[in-house]
Amino acid sequence: MRRAGRLVAEVLALVESELRPGITTGELDRLAERHLRAAGATPSFKGYLGGGHYGRGPGAFPASLCISIDDQVVHGIPSERDIQEGQLVSVDAGAIVDGWHGDAARTFVVGPVSAEARELVDTTRLALMAGIAAAQPGSRIGDIGAAIEDIAMEKGYGIVRQFVGHGIGTSMHEEPQVPNFRSGNGGRRIEAGMCLAIEPMFTLGGDAVGVEADGWTVVTRDGSLAAHFEHTIAITEGGPEILTSVGSPLVAGSRSI
Ligand code: MG
Repeated sequence: MRRAGRLVAEVLALVESELRPGITTGELDRLAERHLRAAGATPSFKGYLGGGHYGRGPGAFPASLCISIDDQVVHGIPSERDIQEGQLVSVDAGAIVDGWHGDAARTFVVGPVSAEARELVDTTRLALMAGIAAAQPGSRIGDIGAAIEDIAMEKGYGIVRQFVGHGIGTSMHEEPQVPNFRSGNGGRRIEAGMCLAIEPMFTLGGDAVGVEADGWTVVTRDGSLAAHFEHTIAITEGGPEILTSVGSPLVAGSRSI
């Protein structure tokens, strides 16, 4: 999982370095797929059939990245669409290495955007980090959602509720679900050895979302801008460890967690 996480981080860094007005989302996708396959990994999303809280399209997902622009929240399909200045571009990447998954997402700002849009992006990133900080052994899954919800509420943002974070391991989506809001009785106890993908999705408007005609792309119903950040983390005795950062340690001979 360290290797899968590290590769996903590399792919997002590659996308960041290539992201500019005029490049198409399809070109970014091809760069990402080439990087993953050259490293011996398989893209998690290509061929994914979806299900439950994680989206379900009309068939297999056709690409290696999800690229969602402005009011698109998640699951945008790369195409010949050009990136333009002033857009919020959310990129989600997944990789499988030796059967183990990594999953992460970032929202990038292309050129100048409104202060409001930038604050949405910064705050969603901050909420992800607050959610990760709450993922301590002995805490509950609900503590993650509470930390994320508190940050959204402070700013008056919408929290997309239809899609949630998840356990991750030999499948991309495993139990437990990790909501980005308070729900139920606090949820399952967090224990060392668990791996989670935490992924807040905030909007400048309401929390209602719909799906575009392609059957995959999730959009805000009110057309408001959305941002999405995600990391895969491992819970260790010492606390949460982010697996999907470029600086993630690759320890030779370490066990796969
Ligand atoms: Mg995910």
